[in-house]
Amino acid sequence: MCAFCGSTSNVEVHHIDGFEEHAEPRNLIWACRRCNTRIGVVMARVGIGRRTRQMNPQAQGAKSLGQWLTAVLSMKGESDAMPPAAAVEMIHATPPERRSEFARKIWEIRRRRGTDRRS
Ligand SMILES: [Zn+2]
Repeated sequence: MCAFCGSTSNVEVHHIDGFEEHAEPRNLIWACRRCNTRIGVVMARVGIGRRTRQMNPQAQGAKSLGQWLTAVLSMKGESDAMPPAAAVEMIHATPPERRSEFARKIWEIRRRRGTDRRS
């Protein structure tokens, strides 16, 4: 299930910090092709990935669905609420179990609103 939108179609592994050689579990997240592509565009625009600095190991993971959504929308270029680098660090620092929990909640909200059929 895509951790960014809850979709279950065309889900692939996404490298949170943009480095494909960083294959440790905390750097991997499930993302649908649509979110993966959109995030790739934003990351390229702000220079995260190839030329990025080190991750901040003290970064706080998302504590609520609201924080998670703010980070996700910022990473997808749909919100200016957080700089993309800070959003990447927050998502990176969020434990995998909590990512899945947020993804399920996002999907439930979309299904209730009927927006799951749009993508
Ligand atoms: Zn998605």
